[in-house]
Amino acid sequence: MTLVTNTTSLLGLFLLLIGLEHVIAFPAGHHGAKGVCGYESCPKGKPGMLNVHLIAHTHDDVGWLKTVDQYYFGSQTDIQNAGVQYILDSVVQSLLHDPNKKFIYVETAFFWKWWMRQHDSVRHQVKTLISNGQLEFVGGGWSMNDEAVTNYMSTIDQMTWGFRKLNDTFGECGRPKVGWQIDPFGHSRDMASTFALMGFDGLFFARLDYTDKSHRLDTKSAEMVWKGSPNLGKKSWLFTGVLYNHYMPPPGFCFDLLCDDEPIMDDKHSPDYNVDDKVNQFIAYAVNQSNHYATDNIVMTMGEDFQYQDANMWFSNLDKLIRYVNERQETEGSKVNVFYSTPSCYLKSLNEANITWPDKSDDFFPYASDPHSYWTGYFSSRPTIKYFERLGNNFLQVCKQLYVMGEIGPEDQVDLDTLREAMGVMQHHDAITGTERQKVAQDYARILYKGFEECGAVTSAAIQKLMNHPIMKKHQDTSTEEDSTSSEEIGMKTADVPTVNFTSCLLLNISQCDVSEGSEPFMVTVYNPLSKMLNHTVRIPVSGSAYVVKDPSGAEIGAQVVPIPKEILNIPGRVSSAINELVFDAELLPAAGFKQYTVTQGNKINGYSETFEIHGNPKKQRAGRGEVITLGKGNFKVGIGAKSGLMEWIERGNLRVDVKQEMLYYEGMDGDNLIFANRASGAYIFRPNGTEAKPITSSTRGIIAKVHRGEVVDEIHQQFSDWTSQVVRVHKDKNYVEVNWVVGPIPISDGIGKEVIMRYTTNIQNGGVFFTDSNGREMLERKRRASFDDKTAIDEMEDSIVEPIAGNYYPVTSRIRIRGPMDGRPAVFSVLTDRAQGGSSIKDGQVELMVHRRLLHDDGFGVGEALNEKAYGTGLVARGRHIIMLGPMAADVPVSPVYAEERQVAQEMLLAPWLFFSKIPKSYGGSIYGYAREFVGLRSSLPPNLHVLTLEPWTGKSVLFRLEHFYEKDEDSELSKPVTLNLKELLAFIEPRFIRETTLGANQWLENSKRMTWSLESNNITENSAGIEESAEPNEGTLDFDPTQVVFGPMDIRTFIIGIP
Ligand SMILES: [Zn+2]
Repeated sequence: MTLVTNTTSLLGLFLLLIGLEHVIAFPAGHHGAKGVCGYESCPKGKPGMLNVHLIAHTHDDVGWLKTVDQYYFGSQTDIQNAGVQYILDSVVQSLLHDPNKKFIYVETAFFWKWWMRQHDSVRHQVKTLISNGQLEFVGGGWSMNDEAVTNYMSTIDQMTWGFRKLNDTFGECGRPKVGWQIDPFGHSRDMASTFALMGFDGLFFARLDYTDKSHRLDTKSAEMVWKGSPNLGKKSWLFTGVLYNHYMPPPGFCFDLLCDDEPIMDDKHSPDYNVDDKVNQFIAYAVNQSNHYATDNIVMTMGEDFQYQDANMWFSNLDKLIRYVNERQETEGSKVNVFYSTPSCYLKSLNEANITWPDKSDDFFPYASDPHSYWTGYFSSRPTIKYFERLGNNFLQVCKQLYVMGEIGPEDQVDLDTLREAMGVMQHHDAITGTERQKVAQDYARILYKGFEECGAVTSAAIQKLMNHPIMKKHQDTSTEEDSTSSEEIGMKTADVPTVNFTSCLLLNISQCDVSEGSEPFMVTVYNPLSKMLNHTVRIPVSGSAYVVKDPSGAEIGAQVVPIPKEILNIPGRVSSAINELVFDAELLPAAGFKQYTVTQGNKINGYSETFEIHGNPKKQRAGRGEVITLGKGNFKVGIGAKSGLMEWIERGNLRVDVKQEMLYYEGMDGDNLIFANRASGAYIFRPNGTEAKPITSSTRGIIAKVHRGEVVDEIHQQFSDWTSQVVRVHKDKNYVEVNWVVGPIPISDGIGKEVIMRYTTNIQNGGVFFTDSNGREMLERKRRASFDDKTAIDEMEDSIVEPIAGNYYPVTSRIRIRGPMDGRPAVFSVLTDRAQGGSSIKDGQVELMVHRRLLHDDGFGVGEALNEKAYGTGLVARGRHIIMLGPMAADVPVSPVYAEERQVAQEMLLAPWLFFSKIPKSYGGSIYGYAREFVGLRSSLPPNLHVLTLEPWTGKSVLFRLEHFYEKDEDSELSKPVTLNLKELLAFIEPRFIRETTLGANQWLENSKRMTWSLESNNITENSAGIEESAEPNEGTLDFDPTQVVFGPMDIRTFIIGIP
C-alpha cells in the first residue's frame, strides 16, 4: 500500500494552492516614461561616409581580483581601483547633462545593487535616460556568463533573472536587444542559440582564436550569421560580430582616470596643443579598421574594465574628438563621421546595409591568444567550486518547484532570490571558471552557501506543508477505509505531521551528514525534480553497520552497508563519525514528487556477500583467483585484472570493449610569460611542459584494491597512490559504470605543478574524431588537430598546432564521446561528468578528462596568483564522479541507443533526486511510519521526450513554466520525434486566467518578438547535417498560439507564463 496521490497534477495542484498577491510588470509592460528608446533612438549615420559608432562602456566583473561587494563599493583600491557605484553615479550625471550622450550597461547584479540604493528623484531621472535611449542595457543577465563551463539551465536562469529585474522596473525600454559577451574566453554555439531564442538581434564578442581572428579580419568575415542549432534552424541563428581591438579604445584614446593617454588639448596657443595630431591618428585608425569590415559602419569600444568612475573625463574628451573629427568634413572634405552610439544602433546600421553575410556552424573553442596560450586550463580550474555550482543548480530547481507546489506565497521571494542571485553570480566568467583569486573564490562559496541556507528554509516549509496537505490526508483517509487493518499495522495517524526539519546535507560528496550519522531513527525524503518516474540509488553516511530501511508503505526494503574508503575518511576538514554508507534503491520515485524512507537500527549487518583484497605487489597477491574478477550482476559488467587490480574491460550484454583506465598527470609549464614561448600553465592556460603524461602509482607497492560485493552494488576500491584513489561501481540494474575518484592533496614538494587527468583507453578506432557537449545540450564534433611538427600523424587534417595537447582540449560540461569500429564491430564509448572538465581524445581509442590541477606559477593574464588551492593547511582534495556508458552502433548510420541513454543519465546527474534528512522525535518512535509519505507532483502524463525545464513563481499571480524536448534530431528513432502536447489538458484542474508564450528569457511575449533578418552569402540548405529545413520557422512568427496543440520539435524549449486564478 502506498500513499500515492496521483489524482493531482503538478500544475493542477500548485495552481489551486498558490496565491501570489504582488503584481509586477509582465513582459513589455508599460513602465517608465513614454519616450523613444531602442532602435528608434539611434543616431543616423551619413550616407557615403565612414560612420564610426563610439560606444561608451565599462566592463564590470562580478568578482575577480576583488569580491562582488568590494568591486561595488570600491574598497581595496590597492588591489584594483574599481568602484561600480561611482561609475553609475557619474555616468548618470553626464548623461543628464547632454541628451546626445549614450552609455551601455551590462551586469544587472551591479545595476540592481545600485538601483536599490537610489532616491526616487534619481530613479526618475534614470527612467528618463532609459526611455529616451541614452542609457541602454545590453546583455542584461545577472552577470556576463562564461560559455565553456556553464550549463544551459543556469545560463537561461541567470539571463532570465537579470531580464526580470529590468522588465519589472523599466518595461520595454529596459529590454536588451543584443548579447555583449566581450570578455568570456571562447564562445559556445549553445549560447548563440540561447541568445537568439531570447529575442536578441545580435551578439558581439572579443575573444576568439588569434589565427581565426586575423583570417576573419583579412577576409572581412569578422561579422557573420552564426547558426546556433542544426535542430532548431533559423530561429536559432544569430548575427555575430567580432570586435576589432578587443573591447578597448584605439591606442592613444583611453581618456579614463585609470589611463595615461594624453587628453585632447585644444588651446591653439598652448605648446601642448594636440588636436591635429589626435584627429589624424584617429582618422587613420578608423580607415584602417574599416578595411577589415564589410560595411561603411564600424564600431569602437570606448572603455575598459571598471572605467567611467569619473565619467566626465571620458565624455569631455569624446565630445572634443567627435567635434574635431567631424569638422574635417567641412574643412577638408573628410569622409569620416563619428558619433555616440550603442551596439544595437551599430547592429541596426549593419542590418540596413542590406548585404549578404558569411555564416558559421560550429563554435569558438578552444580560444588561443598566442601559439602557446590555449585557454583550456580553466575548463578544469577549481574543481570543487565547479561542483558546488552544479549542486547549486540542482537545489535551486528543487527549491523553485517546491516553492510553487508548497504554497510558499504570497510572493515573498526573498528566500528564493538569494539562491537565484547567487547562481547568477556563479555563472560569471571569473567565477565558475576558477579564474578568480583565492579569496574571491571563498567569497563565492560564501554567497552560494547563503543561498542554500535560504532555500533550505523554503524547502523544509514546503515539504512540511505538502505532508499536511488536504490531498495527502484525503488519500490517507481513503486508504484507511480501503484497508484499515494494514494502516493500523503500520501505525497510521490521521493527525497532523509532527513538525520536523527537512535538512540538506551539502557534504554528502565527502560522505558526511550530521543527521544520518548522529541520530536514529531518522527519515530521508527523496525528492525527484525530474518530470519522469525514476529509480535512484541512495547513499547515506552512517556510523553503524546494521539498519532497517522502510519505504512509505512501511515495508522493509533491501539495503546494503558499504565501508567508506579510508581516503575519504582522511579528507582534510572532514568532521564525521560515519564509517559506512547505507545504500538502498529508492524505486519508482514519482515525477516532481517525493517518497520518504525511515531508517532505524537493525540487528543484522547489511553486509556485502564477499570482500577481498587485491595487492599490486606480487608478493602480497592473493593466489588462486583466476585472471579476471568480474563486477556486476546485470547487463553491465566490469572485468578487473586479478593481478593488476585495474579495469580491463567493460561489457554490455554481448558487447565487450577493452577499457584500460589510468590516473596520470601533466607537468605544468613554468615560465616568466615575457615571451609567448615562456608562457606558464595557470588558472586560464593549460600548458603541459612537453613531456608525456606521467602515471600516478606508488613505485614501491603498486595498486591496492578491495572488492565488495552485495545485494545492490558491486564495488572495487582502488588506491593508486597516497593522493589518488577511486571506487568503481556497478549497480545491479544500471546501464553504466560509475567511477568515483578522489584526487589530492596534489604533491608539489618537487617544485612541479601538476595537472591530473583520468585517461580511458579503449580499442575503438575513432579516427581522430570525438564529440563533446555544448553547455549540456547539443553534441559537437571535434577533430583532433595534429602537432605542428608531426603533420603526418593525421595527414588528412591540415590544421596543425604547436601545443598538441592543450590545443586539443575542449570544454566538457556534461559528456564526451568517441565512436568507431572495434574489431570490425562499431561501438560507442562515453564518459559523463558531474561538473565541467577539460577533455580530449589525444590518441585514437582514448578519452581523457582533467579532474584537478595545482600549479605554482601565474599565467600572466591578470589574476596574479598561481592556481594553488589549499584547504585545511594542505592542497585541496577533490572528489567526483565519472559515469561510463557504452554500446553498439549501427554499421550504416552512426546511431546508437547510447545517445538517448546518455541524455537520460546526464539529466539524472544534473537534476538528481535531492535528499532531505529529518530526525524523528523519540516520542514518535513506535509509529513513525505513519508519517512517511509519498507525494506525486506530476502525473506521468508528459511524453518521455519532454520535461519541465523550469517551474517557478513569477510576477503577479502567475508562474513561469518551461518545457523542453531534450533530444536531438536523429539521436533516437522514437524519442527524437516531434511531439504535440495539450497544455490545456495538463492544466485541466483550473481555469488559468491566461497561458501566454514568451521568448526564452520571459521578458517579451513571443508574438511581439520580431527579430532582424539577415541574408547569407551561401544559402546551402543541404549543408545542414541534421537535415532540417532551415527555412522552417515553426515557432517564430506563428502568432496564433493554440494551447491544445503545442508542438515541440527536437531541442525545442518553449516558455510560458500562466496566470492563475
Ligand atoms: Zn571580465
